[in-house]
Amino acid sequence: MKVAYWHNNKDIRIEEVPTPVPGPKEMLVKVISCGICGSDIVEWYRLPRAPLVQGHEIGAEVVAVGDSVNKYELGDRVFIAPKVPCMKCFYCENGHYPQCAEVKERLPGGLAEYILVPEILVERGTYLLPENITYDQSTFIEPLACVVRAQRLARVKKGQSMLVIGCGMSGLLSIKLAWTKGCKIIAADINKTKLEFALRMGADVIIGAADDIPERLVAENGKKADVVFLCASADSAVEQAWKCVDKGGVIVLFAVPGPDKKVVVPVNDFWMKEITIITSYYCGPPDIIEAIKLIESRDVVVDDLITHRLPLTDIVKGFQLVTDGRESIKVIIRPNEPKVAK
Ligand SMILES: [Zn+2]
Ligand SMILES: [Zn+2]
Repeated sequence: MKVAYWHNNKDIRIEEVPTPVPGPKEMLVKVISCGICGSDIVEWYRLPRAPLVQGHEIGAEVVAVGDSVNKYELGDRVFIAPKVPCMKCFYCENGHYPQCAEVKERLPGGLAEYILVPEILVERGTYLLPENITYDQSTFIEPLACVVRAQRLARVKKGQSMLVIGCGMSGLLSIKLAWTKGCKIIAADINKTKLEFALRMGADVIIGAADDIPERLVAENGKKADVVFLCASADSAVEQAWKCVDKGGVIVLFAVPGPDKKVVVPVNDFWMKEITIITSYYCGPPDIIEAIKLIESRDVVVDDLITHRLPLTDIVKGFQLVTDGRESIKVIIRPNEPKVAK
């Protein structure tokens, strides 16, 4: 089978390796669709483990099961979470699933024709796709689950105003989700195309690079934002987040600057204004279940985020499109199709 080994964003090598045979408690799935996540292109985050097979936004079909596997059968359509928490430790019991010591990458990456699913993920990380969720749509389960979690932690609710800074895939999913909750949404980005997407996906107001974000925000919203959702990692974006949150508001750091960056927080000002800063990293099983429901019910429509579908042989182009970000939102790889009709 063909596997894409990622060395860095410009060096991804497709290699031929033997197709694995599942052990008694494992199963083999054929990857039909796999999204390239914004985090896949973050080199400081991924390079320490390179070369590696990336891809954790997976829609796959079960093609072989071990003798002791009876939960799944051939032909089942599944999403598989790349890692799973134990559900028993202190962190899991308190809802901090991503902090569980058991949460570590266990799934071989989806940028390959097949994946050998280990026992723990057969047992606790595999989700059957509802009939009306396509393989392409299933690649949004994991990223949407992360947004579901972040908005839950921020207690986003009807009637609030939300500023989303950065309108890539996560920013746009945040907009779509906030829209279902009845928030007033203001979107900011330096890229015009992305702002047009934001507008189509539920943003009430868009703010471009040439504008003064806090000023426009107050002019359009009557005050600063109750929730600032930071989906961009530039230093300047963090600065804007500090300036745009209203008294008593919440700033969600969904994306952050690299580990070598220091961020200065205006704590004294925030203390008096009772501003909360929260971080949100990854997601947990309840968020995955919720994301599946949102996609299944079409409360969150995801198809209009797909800009590219490519075969595995175009993987370098796929990473380029995501890294460049100017014309792509969601890039999906179809590892088992030699040619993909867009
Ligand atoms: Zn992801
Ligand atoms: Zn745990």
